[in-house]
Amino acid sequence: MAGSEEDWDEYFMAEAIRSADESKNTSPVGACIVKDKNKIISTGYNGRSNDPHAEVMAIQKVTLSDRRDYKMYVTLFPCDVCANKIIHTKIKEVIYKDEKNIHYVNSTNWKQKSSPIFNKAGVAYRQYIPKNNEK
Ligand SMILES: [Zn+2]
Repeated sequence: MAGSEEDWDEYFMAEAIRSADESKNTSPVGACIVKDKNKIISTGYNGRSNDPHAEVMAIQKVTLSDRRDYKMYVTLFPCDVCANKIIHTKIKEVIYKDEKNIHYVNSTNWKQKSSPIFNKAGVAYRQYIPKNNEK
């Protein structure tokens, strides 16, 4: 499949969203790790309140070696705990869908809270913008 970066973003974010659908949590989150630009190597979703978050589940399923260009697609900006996990793996870029949990009105703005962790570690992050604004 050849395509622009936008097409890939759409494809991988759809995979993260699909993973979120497997979650039994009342505020589902899904994540997917991609390497070599276009290979999905792992997915994850959050469990019930005390279980690991989607990002951690995805990271735990694979061994991330050096010299790879790992990216993580996640439906919610990672919390501080996950952000710290991410910077200690080889993930170089995080593409997120929402800054805060859309299921709660007063949810934490995770971008505000966790982005300094990424900034300090040099992990890039950007918001996924759907091509058609239906969602
Ligand atoms: Zn988390």
